[in-house]
Amino acid sequence: MTSTSAILPTYKRQPIRFARGQGSWLYTADGTPYLDALTGIAVCGLGHCHPQISAAIAEQAAILVHTSNLYEIDWQETAGAKLCQVAGMDKAFFANSGAEANEAALKMARRYAHTRGMARPKVIVMQHAFHGRTLLTVSATANETARAGFYTLDDDFIRVPFGDSAAIEAALAAHDDVCAVMLEPIQGESGVNTAADGFEYLAQVRAVCDAHDVLMILDEVQTGNGRTGRYFAYQHSTIAPDILTTAKGLGNGFPVGACMTRGHANEIFGYGAHGSTYGGTPLACRVVAEVIDVITSEAAMSTAQRNSELLQTTLLAALGDEGVTLRGAGMMLGVVLPTDRGIEFTSLVDKAREHHRLLINVAGGNAIRLLPPLNMTADETLDMAERLIALLKNELAV
Ligand SMILES: *Cc1c(COP(=O)(O)O)cnc(C)c1O
Repeated sequence: MTSTSAILPTYKRQPIRFARGQGSWLYTADGTPYLDALTGIAVCGLGHCHPQISAAIAEQAAILVHTSNLYEIDWQETAGAKLCQVAGMDKAFFANSGAEANEAALKMARRYAHTRGMARPKVIVMQHAFHGRTLLTVSATANETARAGFYTLDDDFIRVPFGDSAAIEAALAAHDDVCAVMLEPIQGESGVNTAADGFEYLAQVRAVCDAHDVLMILDEVQTGNGRTGRYFAYQHSTIAPDILTTAKGLGNGFPVGACMTRGHANEIFGYGAHGSTYGGTPLACRVVAEVIDVITSEAAMSTAQRNSELLQTTLLAALGDEGVTLRGAGMMLGVVLPTDRGIEFTSLVDKAREHHRLLINVAGGNAIRLLPPLNMTADETLDMAERLIALLKNELAV
């Protein structure tokens, strides 16, 4: 079938378009409201068109948008300081997306190895990992559809099971050319996968990295910016990474990413080592500063935590007996559905949208991935739970 669209068909789109967004809601042109449990894939964590953020965008757009990194940029300094403060990191490099932030992190690890005389260093990554779509980050990614046919740089990565620090230890014992371990605290794209040991797993990974003197890179592109109930998910643990990346919720819809460093990782990149024409514009960084202010001042994380508990208890009370389980943290939840009840997982997204005006995503085969706004109201949270329960009760025929 030949499409008349001028857009390359890289996405299989749902047959709906939205004209307007406000808070937890998206509206079609005729005004029909849809409750958004996905927020543009964990991006609009503060809801659509948050008034303070929209006002900051409009104001800054009329003052100064871009000058380039050839000059000092006040908003970049301000946003960098605020971000490092909430992240517990020292320094930041601003990029425009998650993949770019991860690309910077991986390049940093390779440069670190190079200065230590390694010929062709490897990075340990996880099964089911997702790190982006540039050639290096898609090579770090596990998803076969994303990798197929791209001559991925597989010799540069070692893949081990997620949640198993002994497997990292074994890989490090078997290879003397590893420069870093890279992972997501909770794996988002592959279905909200959590480690069996929870966030304690991160401390185990940290110990293994320290024992072998390799960098620990955390990809918090999805888990960051309050999503899991802490500013960064790693802050549920007792440790800190050497390199931390984020994007998605960092701009609440404005494209921006960041790669942060701590301790000896601060020294890896010097003049000319890396760059980005757009990275860290006055406009993007003003948005970052505003997002951090709103997350902090609106107590968005405690709201997210409270609503998460409400969502979880409501869902489990209605569906727990039907074999439905939950995983994740804060406002990043996987509703794991039983595989022996004849549920047609691929039709759930359409049914939720068409019959319940609820926007969801299905990941990892049998998990509904919920990434709702951090700051939704308790009423909206219950409304979301009720729509989900109606959908699933029908699927489970109870
Ligand atoms: C979305 C995502 C990325 C890629 O971010 P883009 O902005 O799409 O490049 C990388 N890592 C994780 C964990 C993600 O969820």
